[in-house]
Amino acid sequence: MPKRDYYEVLGVSRNATQEEIKKAYRKIAMQYHPDRNPNNKEAEEKFKEAAEAYEVLSDPEKRSRYDQFGHEGMRAGYDFHGFTDIHDIFSAFSDILGGGFGSSIFEEAFGGRSTRQRRSTSVGTPGSDLKIRLKLSLEEIATGVEKKLKIKAYKTCELCGGSGARSTSSRVICPKCNGSGEIRQVSRSVFGQFVNISTCDQCGGEGRIIKDLCPECRGEGRVQGEKTVKVNIPAGVAEGNYLTLRGQGNAGKRGGPAGDLIIIIEEEPHKYFVRQGDDIMLDLLISFPEAALGADIEIPTLTGKAKLHIEPGTQSGKILRMRDKGLPHLNGYGRGDQLVRVNIWTPTRLTQKDKELLRELMNRESMKPREGDKSANSDKSFFEKFKEAFS
Ligand SMILES: [Zn+2]
Ligand SMILES: [Zn+2]
Repeated sequence: MPKRDYYEVLGVSRNATQEEIKKAYRKIAMQYHPDRNPNNKEAEEKFKEAAEAYEVLSDPEKRSRYDQFGHEGMRAGYDFHGFTDIHDIFSAFSDILGGGFGSSIFEEAFGGRSTRQRRSTSVGTPGSDLKIRLKLSLEEIATGVEKKLKIKAYKTCELCGGSGARSTSSRVICPKCNGSGEIRQVSRSVFGQFVNISTCDQCGGEGRIIKDLCPECRGEGRVQGEKTVKVNIPAGVAEGNYLTLRGQGNAGKRGGPAGDLIIIIEEEPHKYFVRQGDDIMLDLLISFPEAALGADIEIPTLTGKAKLHIEPGTQSGKILRMRDKGLPHLNGYGRGDQLVRVNIWTPTRLTQKDKELLRELMNRESMKPREGDKSANSDKSFFEKFKEAFS
């Protein structure tokens, strides 16, 4: 059957916007949804056809290729596959269709949605996911970092290549089901003949059994071991974010697909800094003369030392903003700021001479606060923000 035009399938014009295409697809997908049309072959075909059209038209690159070359253009060597399995449609467009059908799972990693889904194959048992926690310093988060992680995991048995059999001849056709994986039982009744089909219990439906188990893994096809996984952590991640590495979890049994490795980010507390969103806060001590006369001082930032200018007459508690010295925004441009709270250090180790000088200053009229003088934090919103961060 020749393929219908994708625009026709979705019922939109050739210059439809992405939003219109999405809307049209959602409508058709809901109409022919397999949950609403159980065992309806025609609905299933329509559902697949719409998904294929949407896959192309929702991707600007594929769409322009299709506009230029038609169906022919979608064929050779391009990242386009069409859909043969309904589950693929659900995993590809889960944001539109919802999780809904069968075993569709999608996860969020760093706000972005994974569109792939693990499918169980007929061979073996899938391996389980592994979760590990990864501690990062704020400096590592500021720049992004490549980490090598040593992980205890099930690995495919090297001796048998995951089959669980001692040798290729050890895998033989199941004598109970003759390789079909099914047991058929015929029963007769007054209404006629019934055939009852069930999964073969001897081979678990695989159609083959292992006569001679692999001595290394005892037929499991996997062994416990350790592996090193390299992972690139993007700059700007935060506590609780996680990364999913597909297929890096436990190996499956007897050639089943491997699970995923899920890396959960943890932040190490910092010696000087407190994080708030992508801003970095620093509590800074300066001397009274520095505050009174003004000064240029060196202070730490996440990317090394930086100069901070203190205006003459800076009050204790004043917050200074150093633009773009905070953490990079994850998945975006720009970065947060470093906020510095200035605290005036009251000296505690005075010599006799110091005391004499201070007494002299104490009696001077210019040293005394006057009616109407303000503290640094008359700006309430800033103050509140800090109260939160330093409580
Ligand atoms: Zn083995
Ligand atoms: Zn069998």
